[in-house]
Amino acid sequence: MKNYQLFIGGKWVSSQSGDSYEVINPATREAVWRVAYGDDRDAELAVEAAADAFPKWSQTPAKERAAILMKMYQLMLERKEELARTITLEMGKPIREARGEVQSAADYVQWNAEEAKRTYGETIPSSFANKRLLTIRQAVGPVAAITPWNFPLSMVTRKLAPALAAGCTAVLKPATQTPGCAAMLFEIAQEAGLPDGVANLVVGSSGKIGKALLGNHKIRKITFTGSTEVGKLLLRDAADQVKRVSMELGGHAPFIVFADADLEKAVEGAIANKFRNTGQTCICANRIYVQSPVVEEFTALFKAKVENMVVGNGLEETTDIGPVIDEQGLLKVHEHVEDALSKGARLISGGEKCQPGAGTFYKPTILANVSEGMMISTEETFGPVAPIYSFESEEEVIAKANQTNYGLAAYFYTRDLGRAIRVYEALEYGMVGCNDPVPTTVQGPFGGWKESGMGREGGPHGLDDFLETKFVSIQI
Ligand code: NAP
Repeated sequence: MKNYQLFIGGKWVSSQSGDSYEVINPATREAVWRVAYGDDRDAELAVEAAADAFPKWSQTPAKERAAILMKMYQLMLERKEELARTITLEMGKPIREARGEVQSAADYVQWNAEEAKRTYGETIPSSFANKRLLTIRQAVGPVAAITPWNFPLSMVTRKLAPALAAGCTAVLKPATQTPGCAAMLFEIAQEAGLPDGVANLVVGSSGKIGKALLGNHKIRKITFTGSTEVGKLLLRDAADQVKRVSMELGGHAPFIVFADADLEKAVEGAIANKFRNTGQTCICANRIYVQSPVVEEFTALFKAKVENMVVGNGLEETTDIGPVIDEQGLLKVHEHVEDALSKGARLISGGEKCQPGAGTFYKPTILANVSEGMMISTEETFGPVAPIYSFESEEEVIAKANQTNYGLAAYFYTRDLGRAIRVYEALEYGMVGCNDPVPTTVQGPFGGWKESGMGREGGPHGLDDFLETKFVSIQI
C-alpha cells in the first residue's frame, strides 16, 4: 500500500505525533493508502515555513512564478491518468469524470499562470499640480486553504494556483477522505521547481489544524470550500484577526424547465447536471421545476434515460454512477427519499441502496409530486436523487427558486429570448446556466450569493481575492 506524508518547508515528513490513518475506497471499502495524520503542531510548522518563504516568493518576478505554474500544468497533463485513478480510488467518481476533473484542475493552473502577469495598478489624476497618485497591487501574504473531498484536485488548484500566481505562499489542508491527489500535486510542484516553503501540505485533525491556521497572525487570508455550516465556523474565527476570507459553500440549485423548452435537451441537461459525481456537487440540481403542461412528458423521458444508467465501481469505463462517499452520506440520501415519500412524493425510479460491490451505492432515483416542507426541498441531499416539482407561471417559479438561503447556481430551459433575459436577471444566484447544464469553466467567475459564500474563483478577476491594493501619493 502506498504511503503519503505531510509536505512542510520543501520536505516530506511524518506528523509530529507519528500518527497515520488509512484512506478507504468507497467502492470496495478497502484501504488504498496510508497517510500521516497531523494536528496543530504540524500546522504551526507549516505556517512558519510559508511565512519564511513569503518575502522572496512575493518579490519573485511574475514571469518566473508563471513559468513554474506552467511547468506544473504540463506535468499534471503528463500524469493525467495516474491523477484520475487516484481521484476515483479515493472518492469513487467515474474515471471518465475524474479525467475531466484533472483537465479542469490543470486549466486553473494554466489560467492563473497567465493572469499572474496582469496584476496591473493604476495612475489617478490628482487635483494638485505637485502630486502624483497611483495604486499598486501586492500579495495578501501567507494563505490557508481548506478543501472538500468532492472535487479533490480541482478545488485544490482553484486555490493554490491563484495564491501562488499572486505571490502568496500557502498552507493546504485537504479533506481527510482525499489527501492522495493533493499529495501528488505537491510532488508535481516540487518537480516543477516550486521553492521550499512556498506551498505546504498538512493532513489531519480538521478542528486542531483549523484553529492553528486561523489563530496565527502570520496567516493573512483563509480560502475555504466546503459546507456552509463549517464555513460559518471559520468566518467567526477569522473575524478575531479580521483575516481576509473567500468562502465557496453549499448550494441548493433550482433547475427550471419551461413548457416552451426543447424537452429532449432539457432532459439530457438534467441528467448531466443532476447525476454528475453521483449527485455530490455543490452546483447540481436540487429542485427540478417543470411547467405543468410538460411535466408528465418530461418525467417519462427522464425516467427512460435514468434507468439506463450504470451504477458501479468508478474504475470501470462504463460506469455512470459511482458510490456515495461514505455510510453517513448514504444514510442522508436515503433519509431524504423516505422523508419525501412519507410526505406525499411519488417514487418514479430507484429509491434504494444497491450492491454492485461492497461499497456505498445508491440507485439513481426520481421523485415526483415533491413539495415544500420536505427535507429535500431545503437541504443539500448530496446523492443521486432528482426531485421533480410542477409549476404554473414564470412569477411563481422565480419566487420558489429564490426561496432559499443558498445562492450558488441556477439553471433554466426556454426558447423565449425575452423570458430568458427576465429569468436570468431575477434569479438570486452567483451562476446561471441558460439552456446550459454545465456552465463551469475557468474563464467564468465561480462563486455564490447569500449563504453560498463570498469571493470568486477563476475568471478575469480570479487573482483579486489574493491581492491587496496599496494607494501611494507622491509630492514632487
Ligand atoms: P465540509 O465538511 O465542510 O469539509 C470541508 C473541509 O473543511 C474539509 O477539509 C474538512 O476537513 C474541513 N473542516 C471540517 N470541519 C472543520 C473545522 N472545524 N475547522 C477547519 N476545517 C474543517 O464539506 P465536505 O463534506 O468535505 O464537502 C461538501 C460540501 O462542500 C457541500 O456542502 C458542498 O456544497 C460544498 N462545496 C462547495 C463548493 C463551492 O465551490 N461552492 C464546491 C465543492 C463543494 P475533514 O475532511 O478533515 O473533516
